[in-house]
Amino acid sequence: MKILNSALLAFFLKSTGVCTDTRKIQAGNLFFALKGPNFNANALAKEALEKGALAAVIDDVNFETGDKTLLVEYGLKALQDLARDYRNTLNIPIIGLTGSNGKTTTKELLFSVLSQKFHCYATAGNLNNHIGVPLSILQIKSTHEVAVIEMGANKQGDIKELVEIAQPTHSLITNIGKAHLEGFGGEAGVRKGKGELFDYVAKHGGTVYLPKDKNVVHEMSEERGIANCIVANAEMPTTLIEAKPTITFACADGSVIKSHLPGIYNFENIQMAIAVGKNFGLSDEACRVGISSYMPTNHRSQFLKIGSNQVLMDAYNANPSSMEAAISHFADTENNPKIVILGDMFELGDLSASEHASLGQMIAKFQFSKVLLVGEHMQHALIHLPQAYYFPDKFGLHNWLQDNPITNSFLLVKGSRGIQLESVLPFLES
Ligand code: ATP
Ligand code: MG
Repeated sequence: MKILNSALLAFFLKSTGVCTDTRKIQAGNLFFALKGPNFNANALAKEALEKGALAAVIDDVNFETGDKTLLVEYGLKALQDLARDYRNTLNIPIIGLTGSNGKTTTKELLFSVLSQKFHCYATAGNLNNHIGVPLSILQIKSTHEVAVIEMGANKQGDIKELVEIAQPTHSLITNIGKAHLEGFGGEAGVRKGKGELFDYVAKHGGTVYLPKDKNVVHEMSEERGIANCIVANAEMPTTLIEAKPTITFACADGSVIKSHLPGIYNFENIQMAIAVGKNFGLSDEACRVGISSYMPTNHRSQFLKIGSNQVLMDAYNANPSSMEAAISHFADTENNPKIVILGDMFELGDLSASEHASLGQMIAKFQFSKVLLVGEHMQHALIHLPQAYYFPDKFGLHNWLQDNPITNSFLLVKGSRGIQLESVLPFLES
């Protein structure tokens, strides 16, 4: 017999948390057997129970082993329903955050700021999809006072599914750009897909945070007649002093704050985080401490000193908008000589060749002392960059760097996750 949602919630409330990986199981966990393209975790239910799980949720009757296996129709749907039901028991504000670029950085800045006053939960790492969001919600404890949930999407309907689970009271779209163009069907598709967050606000109410400058995100809020909007930089104005090597800004009281984030685009993320902090009643000083104490990690917007080189490490991901933002920021810095190491931008579908070619055109406008391109798609950029060095994969680049050591230079390293450009770091240590 299939278990009811209410009974599953009761099990969860008695458990020590949800686990989907038997290698990480802890005593008292509620194990969810999820099916992947290559694996059916129903087969692991027995092992999970032997390792001390309170119960195992399965969706294949053949793996029932007694009253500790809880049968559901479909494991993933049960996990999502459980997260939604649990969210309904939590009487706290949840900030739902999406956008083409800067979600994780903004999420982490929000966490750093809000933690100055509240016991705050924020999505761990980049767990922002149809599995990550429910798992994140189920991590929120009764002691948390506010939560920040990152929501990612690569096609229409993804955000709708996630907002119905997280039910945000506060919402934020960082920006609309060229990311996941393949699944969304172009930029207009991205606007529609990300707009599902504001569709939810229009229907259920809530506060929306908007970027400082009027842009498409403002239009998206206006189109839906959302009244409760907070615009960044209104309550606690800040002005940029310098974005190099990392962002330094001034506040209205004359104080000067140094952040650890490079890139002018990150100033938008900082201003958003301050706007949210002020809206949640933090003092100006608490917002300042939240921003200045945040240290980027994970090869995302990091400024590193490697050997005699200075490296702007942004190899965590890449798409046409974030590439453009990162390259123009980098080109604008005074340090020389400047070298760019750029990898493929994935998930562009039919637009891949033209987007890589446009990138090549853009790079050609700058006087970089060397351009190193990595990956199959980057071949399309070469047409505008006859002087560039090209490598089909990271190994070719590594070998070249061994034979041609780079010293005393300023480098930008950026590409999609799969290209793994962070692997160049040991080769830049001269
Ligand atoms: P993902 O889709 O992988 O979850 P994300 O939206 O969480 O990405 P981040 O990981 O925070 O984005 O940042 C990725 C990169 O996007 C940064 O390293 C930077 O190059 C760029 N970026 C960050 N903020 C902005 C912004 N406000 N505008 C444009 N580009 C940005
Ligand atoms: Mg992210």
